Amino acid sequence: MHLFFPFQRKGNFFYISGSEYKHLKVRRIRFGEEIGIIYKNRVYKCVLKEKGKEYAIAEIVSVLEPEIPNIELTLYQAVTHNLQTMDFIIQKAVELGIAHFTPLITERSFKNIHAIEKREVRWKKIATEAMKQSGRPNFLKINPPQNLEDLEPNCELNILLDNFSEGLTVKELTFENLQSVSVIVGPEGGFSKKETDLLRRKGFIPVRLKPYVLRTETAAVAAISIIMNFADP
Ligand code: SAH
Repeated sequence: MHLFFPFQRKGNFFYISGSEYKHLKVRRIRFGEEIGIIYKNRVYKCVLKEKGKEYAIAEIVSVLEPEIPNIELTLYQAVTHNLQTMDFIIQKAVELGIAHFTPLITERSFKNIHAIEKREVRWKKIATEAMKQSGRPNFLKINPPQNLEDLEPNCELNILLDNFSEGLTVKELTFENLQSVSVIVGPEGGFSKKETDLLRRKGFIPVRLKPYVLRTETAAVAAISIIMNFADP
């Protein structure tokens, strides 16, 4: 079922316009055909009722109840020098169910704040497309870039992905009864010793994924997928 975002709801009807309407036409959806509508953290099964010049109208058939994870995962991702890698990470992170995304500035990360902020429009678009694709009902929150020194371990479990640490392996973590988890992933060149020392002192727990050193995007995807599947209460 193809999913769309409406611009408004009136009673049992959703109105679809602009680029969403364009998508609907490209997909050649016909009258009476089923579509999904993502609206206020819910997905509705609808049928297409009307196709006007400016907008289409869909009528609600039923409310689907796709899961919103009980666990809120925040990803602090060191900004990669190839910004396309960030696009990839965001797309995968939305599919895998993270709630918050914060681009992180570190010693060896990409540091041009202006370029990062400019990229946010694109990230929002990628995130919304990924939502539709995966049937996810809630939006990803994309935060402004943050400096590594300013990070605080604000969640119930705060993980520092560190391939150099003799730290814990995933198996040694306790995931039970958690509602919020954060995970920090380093840039292509890794963290400096000073950075990992600082984050450990602050209370982030160093975790090593087995068995090899991963690319930053692989590490992010692997960690998110492990956490989302093991930590959901
Ligand atoms: N060239 C760097 C590799 C950094 S990999 C080096 O030699 O250290 C980029 C980031 O991915 C790391 O900073 C870490 O956060 C994460 N990462 C990669 N492999 C990992 C692993 N096996 N365990 C934990 N984190 C890992």
